[in-house]
Amino acid sequence: MRINVTRSSMPDFEEYCEEIRELWDSHHLTNMGIKHQTLEKQLTEFFGCNHVTLFTNGHLALEAAIHAFNFPEGSEVITTPFTFISTTHAIVRNGLKPVFCDVNEKDYTIDADQIESLITKRTVAIVPVHVYGNLCDVEKIAAIAKKHNLKVIYDAAHAFGVKYKGVSSGCFGDASMFSFHATKVFNTIEGGAVSFADDSLIQKLNDAKNFGIHGTEDCCAVGGNAKMNEFQAAMGICNLRHFSGEVAKRKAVAERYDSHLKGIEGITVNELQKDVQPNYCYYPVFFSGYRYSRDEVFQKLRENDFGARKYFYPLTTDMTCYKDIYDASQTPVARKLAGQVLTLPMYADLPLETVDEICRVITG
Ligand SMILES: *Cc1c(COP(=O)(O)O)cnc(C)c1O
Repeated sequence: MRINVTRSSMPDFEEYCEEIRELWDSHHLTNMGIKHQTLEKQLTEFFGCNHVTLFTNGHLALEAAIHAFNFPEGSEVITTPFTFISTTHAIVRNGLKPVFCDVNEKDYTIDADQIESLITKRTVAIVPVHVYGNLCDVEKIAAIAKKHNLKVIYDAAHAFGVKYKGVSSGCFGDASMFSFHATKVFNTIEGGAVSFADDSLIQKLNDAKNFGIHGTEDCCAVGGNAKMNEFQAAMGICNLRHFSGEVAKRKAVAERYDSHLKGIEGITVNELQKDVQPNYCYYPVFFSGYRYSRDEVFQKLRENDFGARKYFYPLTTDMTCYKDIYDASQTPVARKLAGQVLTLPMYADLPLETVDEICRVITG
């Protein structure tokens, strides 16, 4: 493939070498060392929220965030199937039952107007997903959660650096999980974090990522191991320096795509949300009634050596491990969108002339 759908942001080689130099002096490679502490502090400031705790990847961060609330086994959690499989797995692997709510056609996030009809006496939480950097209706979700005494844990894997009315995506709900995987808008090679306000979660999340060990001689909780190592954190420190520049370059790419594709009959591009500062993490396009189907466009792009991704397709409820348990016909909008969507190549250094070529293939 000549052009892949993503390309990881990386600092200059020398910048990274400089950042990891002291690790050769200290021989302290992991276990919440200096790089880990520095990145945690920087991200706490970046989000402007009370607490951030780092993890070795986003998935374990989400599992830990859900686990931290001690929900009774078998409790119901309202979520959506139009997401990466990690969201559904994190709920199920915690011994909880996902209850699938449909998404809306405007920004592809959970349809907040349908949440209340799914609440039962077993419901304990909502796990909504910010999709393509579009934020969920955080105000409506907060009101519903308050009224029904539910926890809200956001899958904010796509929403790093996004703000609503000047407030960071890390500040909504009871906790938010971010992914810093290599393919994400901000990466630590692999990595993740949970942001949250409540002090009582600090120990629980630390237990989840460091075996429940307290001090040097005792263990107080049955925890796992999900620590971010120093090399990951050093990559994050470097990438964070360049984050706003990378987003500005992505914006130019998105606008170039818009200039070609917006307004074409049968093609829908992502609309930026009101009062939201975006991160341009993906460039999703929806084909419906266009002269080529989504799959035909996908094929045409491949033939021209351009990557594209059916993201999210299939719905998590249509995957082999879930399809006999859950019924995707309950979420018709999500199922329809999954059949129409293609995310096009999007990364900071994608040349604008390449965007022109990609669009010529789509419209040609
Ligand atoms: C990437 C992603 C995850 C998982 O994050 P990892 O860091 O890859 O473990 C979870 N949810 C969504 C929506 C994602 O895009």
